[in-house]
Amino acid sequence: MAANGEEQQTQAARHQEVGHKSLLQSDALYQYILETSVYPREPESMKELREVTAKHPWNIMTTSADEGQFLNMLLKLINAKNTMEIGVYTGYSLLATALAIPDDGKILAMDINKENYELGLPIIEKAGVAHKIDFREGPALPMLDLLIENKKNHGSYDFIFVDADKDNYINYHKRLIDLVKVGGLIGYDNTLWNGSVVAPPDAPLRKYVRYYRDFVLELNKAIAADPRIEICMLPVGDGITLCRRIK
Ligand code: SAM
Ligand code: CA
Repeated sequence: MAANGEEQQTQAARHQEVGHKSLLQSDALYQYILETSVYPREPESMKELREVTAKHPWNIMTTSADEGQFLNMLLKLINAKNTMEIGVYTGYSLLATALAIPDDGKILAMDINKENYELGLPIIEKAGVAHKIDFREGPALPMLDLLIENKKNHGSYDFIFVDADKDNYINYHKRLIDLVKVGGLIGYDNTLWNGSVVAPPDAPLRKYVRYYRDFVLELNKAIAADPRIEICMLPVGDGITLCRRIK
């Protein structure tokens, strides 16, 4: 126990030495955020959807409640109206978006799996926001290619949330940059990829984490070098990188 305590102290000291500005130094602190400011303000529908999703075998895929709260606030701040989501699962981030945008706002939502979306749909309907959602089942890339063919879709999206197959993020970016408006935002989710972006080559990573890691690293480099956007990588959830189109 003592050795463990000492080890923790050394780590904390090192943490400060390198001028680390993140305040989130423990699981307890994360729990504090959830219990103090997220759960008490979570809309009833989002709570219900979170609880239904928690029982699903792939629940690890869901957006966390603090990230849902962040997205909801962000969308209101930028007055988003025309939005897109790639990667819906049971719809937690979708519901956070649908609740944030105005009554005549739109979300073009894509996922290869409709069954999981249908699990959350009754809750989304009960919340009175389903009319804002245009769900399309299938792989996102060909759908984006179709959208791009029509010039009127260019520069038409205020916000696009990307939370699907990480090995396609770069391909999505090539298309989304034309679809988002100048001044609009693209949010790429999971850009810290379980912390694996800084894992040593021989680290014992789960198979899927290891497989997608290089794609996430490649994306992070590519968007950091893209002059068409300003970026901000936030350690919310599993990391979300906001890209604001500037040209
Ligand atoms: N945003 C969701 C939420 O808040 O719960 C989580 C999305 S989950 C991490 C990733 C989703 O991407 C899965 O539902 C999966 O079916 C979907 N997906 C995977 N490959 C895809 C593709 N090529 N096109 C569209 N969706 C895809
Ligand atoms: Ca995610």
